[in-house]
Amino acid sequence: MIIDGKQVASKIIKEIKDKISSLQTKPSISVILVGNNLASQTYVKMKKKACENTDINFKLINLDDKISQEDLIKKIKSLNEDKTVDSILIQMPLPKHIDPTKVINSIDPSKDVDGFHPVNVGKLLIGDETGFVSCTPLGIKSLLEESNIDIKGKHVVIVGRSNIVGKPLFALLIQKAKGANATVTVVHSETKNLKEITKTADILVAAIGIAKFIKKDMIKKNAVVIDVGINHEVQKDGTKKIFGDVDFENVSKIASFITPVPGGVGPMTIAMLLSNILKSHIQKK
Ligand code: NAD
Repeated sequence: MIIDGKQVASKIIKEIKDKISSLQTKPSISVILVGNNLASQTYVKMKKKACENTDINFKLINLDDKISQEDLIKKIKSLNEDKTVDSILIQMPLPKHIDPTKVINSIDPSKDVDGFHPVNVGKLLIGDETGFVSCTPLGIKSLLEESNIDIKGKHVVIVGRSNIVGKPLFALLIQKAKGANATVTVVHSETKNLKEITKTADILVAAIGIAKFIKKDMIKKNAVVIDVGINHEVQKDGTKKIFGDVDFENVSKIASFITPVPGGVGPMTIAMLLSNILKSHIQKK
């Protein structure tokens, strides 16, 4: 069965919109975009549209790609102090001369709706729900819950150990909490016998960044397969096509549930960003 992430996300977005319409003040977000990377511009546009559709005040701060790290951090600190700004998001990647860790660390954790600040990562690890969880892992958990897939006691195998997907998803799904309680294994580029491990997964999450990496012989029959990958490939006719990290055509024949790309995890990531912005606004009242 195909999990329709778009449909689940629009249901959640409608609930967020209804909540916002009952508030006396509207949530707000300031997004910093450094330079003019085309992919980043597209992502920012999508976020802007989603915010405007839910009545979230969206402010874009477009900075020159030659800006110094010091000046960027100064700008972030001024947003930290601005009481009219609930949330701050720095669109990644940043130009090479800027250290993303230093930039992330300069955001006020109570405004860090991407959940990348070490304070929020720490809160996630200890199960303190006042923090912000990275949007993609949060979206995956929500997608499983909304699809009535109970992961309690199940073996979840995550392929990929990035700070924005693999690691926070691991921390989220092992919690003693509703929608979690899974037994989680994380595998990565240095894992030996990867296939033997992925074949033991009740739920397999692919966050690798390699098109169609997960093949049919790497999963067990009736496994749930969640595909996080977004890989742009140029076709023979010059057009671009998006592929996930899973060989959807073949894996979908033996999986019990599978997310498509596009239309699976992607829309949930946006929905969770809106949810985090609302949370940030409510926490400040
Ligand atoms: P990343 O490059 O930071 O991490 C990739 C991970 O895959 C690494 O931890 C690495 O160890 C692992 N890996 C690489 N080659 C491997 C191999 N041969 N065997 C096993 N593991 C291997 O990537 P990321 O930021 O986590 O993103 C992963 C994918 O998810 C990308 O395609 C990205 O575009 C996509 N993504 C999608 C969303 C969304 O909203 N849908 C959000 C974030 C990332």
